Amino acid sequence: MLINKAYQFRIYPTEEQKILINKCIGSSRFVYNYYLDKKKTEYNENNKNISLSDMKKDLKKLYVEYPWLKEVDSVCLRNSLEDLDKSFINFFNGYGYPKFKSKNYKDTYRTTCIRSSYKSKSYSNIELDLENKEIKLPKLGKIKIRGYRNKKKFTGKIFNATIKKVGYKYYVSLSVEEEIEEKPFSLGYPIGIDLGVKNIVVTSDGYKYKIEEKITRQEKRIKGLQRGFSRCKRCSKNSYKIKMKIKIAYQKIRNMRKYLIHEITTKIVKENDLIAVETLKVKDMITKKENKKNHLSKYISNNSFNEVIRQIEYKSLWNNKKLIKVNTYFPSSKKCSRCGNINKKISDLRIRKWECSKCGNKNDRDINASINILEEGIELYYKRLLKN
Ligand SMILES: [Zn+2]
Repeated sequence: MLINKAYQFRIYPTEEQKILINKCIGSSRFVYNYYLDKKKTEYNENNKNISLSDMKKDLKKLYVEYPWLKEVDSVCLRNSLEDLDKSFINFFNGYGYPKFKSKNYKDTYRTTCIRSSYKSKSYSNIELDLENKEIKLPKLGKIKIRGYRNKKKFTGKIFNATIKKVGYKYYVSLSVEEEIEEKPFSLGYPIGIDLGVKNIVVTSDGYKYKIEEKITRQEKRIKGLQRGFSRCKRCSKNSYKIKMKIKIAYQKIRNMRKYLIHEITTKIVKENDLIAVETLKVKDMITKKENKKNHLSKYISNNSFNEVIRQIEYKSLWNNKKLIKVNTYFPSSKKCSRCGNINKKISDLRIRKWECSKCGNKNDRDINASINILEEGIELYYKRLLKN
């Protein structure tokens, strides 16, 4: 079975390579903004749309006007036009109007893998060498990488590479296709999981996984840096330094969160065969008090939940496990997992432990919910099995 996968590595470019990467980033942004402006004017003045192929043709003229564009990877400039085209498609589907890209907003560029072969020799402009910890990228040549220590060989097919700069650090993420072996599925160990704010994952066998505590320390560091930043003179060398540090700290948090979620999802998928999870509406998950406190926590939790489900989904696929999504309207937290009685009183999220009014069972809110999710998941699994 062929699967799509993404690899992210930290890269260690030389000073020369750094300059070229920065040029690629800057030129991608320039091309994006240039055509966004052009599309805007053309639309306002002549009520006309400039198509992607028109932009690509026009790009050739731009090289004459701005010869420095020739220095960079030409593929990334065309990709930039594709991104712009995509953001207009999104706009027509109801999302916001495309914005101009500002410096320091998102320092990335994307290049595409081009392959060719001649007389049984094959050539590719992007090559990943895990053994020697190197990557070959268009125009840049070979760069040292770090990551995936346990993987020694790469056999997949690379589609594209996104080069990213965060503060002083550089990363590359590869979008690839890889072949995996298929094995028959057996329902050996099923598990139900409940997603929450305090404990990101609670399983039906009683495990509670936390990640936020570990992240709080980094967040405190950012707060300290931000205070320092506000005391600095604007645009001074020092303020720039602090800004960079803040960016790196944010990236660290994102990486930490991802890494911690990976640890949890890998364990869950490894130890179980069927994983039942609730597809949820996050607005119900956060108490009113927390909601007032900040909007950001809601956003982060939302992202984390999606990340947990996303990771379990693809890891299940890779390992012949099954993910069953249970409907949101299923009353997982109000139902007593022992007798099935619906306890309406416990809708309040502050109630963490409750006693069933019918059978008297003492329920932990999250564990009880995950057991219910597990039962619902198994039922759904058999129903689907019977249908086929
Ligand atoms: Zn009960």
